[in-house]
Amino acid sequence: MSKRVIVVGGGNAALCAALSARENGADVVVLERAEGELKGGNTAFTAGAMRVAYDGVDDLLTLMPELTDEELANTDFGSYSASDFYDDLARVTEYRTDPELASVLADESLPTLQWMNKQGVRFVPIYGRQAFKIDGRFKFWGGLTVEVSGGGPGLVDALTKAAANAGVQVEYGARVLSLIAGDNGVSGVTVRQHGVTREEHADAVILASGGFQANTAWRTQYLGPNWDLAKVRGTQFNTGDGHQMALSIGASPAGNWSGCHAVSWELNAPEFGDMAVGDHFQKHSYPWSVMVNAEGKRFVDEGADFRNYTYAKYGRRVLEQPGQFAWQVFDSKVSHLLRDEYRIKQVTKVTANTLEELAKKMDGVDAEGFLAEIRAYNAAVDQDVPFDPNVKDGRGTSGLAVNKTNWANTIEDGPFEAYAVTCGITFTFGGLRINRDAQVLDTDQRVIPNLYAAGEIVGGVFYFNYPGGSGLTNGSVFGKIAGANAAG
Ligand SMILES: Cc1cc2nc3c(=O)[nH]c(=O)nc-3n(C[C@H](O)[C@H](O)[C@H](O)COP(=O)(O)OP(=O)(O)OC[C@H]3O[C@@H](n4cnc5c(N)ncnc54)[C@H](O)[C@@H]3O)c2cc1C
Repeated sequence: MSKRVIVVGGGNAALCAALSARENGADVVVLERAEGELKGGNTAFTAGAMRVAYDGVDDLLTLMPELTDEELANTDFGSYSASDFYDDLARVTEYRTDPELASVLADESLPTLQWMNKQGVRFVPIYGRQAFKIDGRFKFWGGLTVEVSGGGPGLVDALTKAAANAGVQVEYGARVLSLIAGDNGVSGVTVRQHGVTREEHADAVILASGGFQANTAWRTQYLGPNWDLAKVRGTQFNTGDGHQMALSIGASPAGNWSGCHAVSWELNAPEFGDMAVGDHFQKHSYPWSVMVNAEGKRFVDEGADFRNYTYAKYGRRVLEQPGQFAWQVFDSKVSHLLRDEYRIKQVTKVTANTLEELAKKMDGVDAEGFLAEIRAYNAAVDQDVPFDPNVKDGRGTSGLAVNKTNWANTIEDGPFEAYAVTCGITFTFGGLRINRDAQVLDTDQRVIPNLYAAGEIVGGVFYFNYPGGSGLTNGSVFGKIAGANAAG
C-alpha cells in the first residue's frame, strides 16, 4: 500500500519534496497557508538564481539543452566544482556550516537541478547579473550561473504544474497548527482551512514552512534589538509555525538562531514583500558606491568582495546605524554600472551636480559630516591602480578608519546619485536539526520517526552570511531527499 505524506508549505522546498515523494510512490497532500494568489512563499519573490556545481559547459548543457551555438561561442561559463561550492559555504559561514549537510548540498546540487529540469523547470544563464563582458565574450563569475526561466514566479508555476500532473493534492489557505505525535513519532497534523480545523493523518510529515523572519516578536527575541524594525523582503506567512510545532514535540534547534540573511533594501518599502516589485527593492550595486549613515560616515567596506559574498550580511550593518538607514552615493563615473533595480519607480533617490547640493538633499544626513568624510575618502583612494569592476581590482583606500578594499573611485564628478536604504530581512538561519536524510532529530539527537524538514526551516547550513543562490538549491536538494525518504 502506498504511504501518505503531508507536506507543510508551498514554496520550492515543499513542492520539490512533494514531487519526490510522489515519484517514489506516495500519496501526497501539500498544505499551503497562503491563498492561491499569494502562494509560493519566499520562492515566488526570488529572481530564481540557483547555485550549482558544474565541471564545465557539458554539465550546463544537461540543465540548459536549449543553449544556442552562438551563446556557447560567446560565453565563458568556466567551471565550479562541488568542492568550490563546499569551500564557499565553509568560507562565508566562517567554517560553521555543518560539514555533512554542506557536502550533501554541494554534491547533490547538479543531480537535483537535472531532476528539476525533468520535472519541467527550465533554466537559463544569468547573463544580466552574474556575467561580465571581456573582449566581446561573456564571462561568468562562477557558481551562480543559472536561473529559472521566469524567475521565482516561473519556478513556482513550473513546480505547481508538475505537482498537478503528478497527482499531488495541493490545498491553499490551509494553515498547519500542530503535529500529531506519540511514542511512534509523527502521524499527522492539525490544520485550519477556511476557518475549519481538522486533523489530517499520514505516514510521514515534511515541514517546509520557511523561516521565522515575518514574525516581528521572534525577530526581536532571537536576532536581537531593532530587528523588529527591519522590512521583510518576502512573504508575510513565514512566521515560524513549523519551528514552533516541531520544537514543541521535542525537536532540536540547530544553527545560527541569532543570524539571518539581510540586505540593503529600499528605505520606504512596505513591511512585507510586494509581489509586483519582487526583489527590485534590493540595492546591490553598493560595491561601486560609498555608503554613509546619518552622521555622514562610512561604516562598511563596500568593496570587500564581490556582491555575492557580502550582500547578505550587510543588511545587518545598515540596521545597526542610527535611524537604521544609509545612503548609497554614486559618482557619475560608475552610474552606468547600476543594476536594473535602481531604475524602478519605487526608489528614494536624490541627484545633484555638486556634493554640497547632494549633502543637503540626503534626508537625515549630517551635511558637514558627509562632506568631511568624502574629502578624507577621496584623498585616500589609490588612483594608481586602474578601476576594473570585473575583477577584485585592489583599487582601494588606505589610512581610513574603514577602508574600501576594491573598486574605490573618488566621489567628485557629478551628477551624483544617492539612494536611501534600510535593512531588508530575507530569511532566518536558525532552524531544526536534520541529518543527511532530512530526518528531524530530537534534543537527544535521535531521529523523530516520520518527521522530515527542508528549506529555510532547517538550521545548520548558513551562519553569518550566505553564498548567493544557495537558498533555493538548499531547499531543492533536501526537499528531494525528504520526499524520497518519507515515501520509502
Ligand atoms: C526578495 C527575495 C529574493 C531572493 N532571491 C533568491 C535567489 O535569487 N536565489 C536563491 O537561492 N534564494 C533567493 N532568496 C531566498 C529564497 O527565497 C529562499 O531560500 C527559498 O525560497 C526558501 O524556500 P522554502 O521552500 O524553504 O520557503 P518558502 O518558499 O518561503 O515557502 C514556505 C511556505 O510555507 C508556507 N507556510 C508557512 N507557515 C505555514 C503553515 N503553518 N502551514 C502551511 N504552510 C505554511 C508559506 O506560506 C510558504 O509558502 C530570495 C528571497 C527573497 C525574499
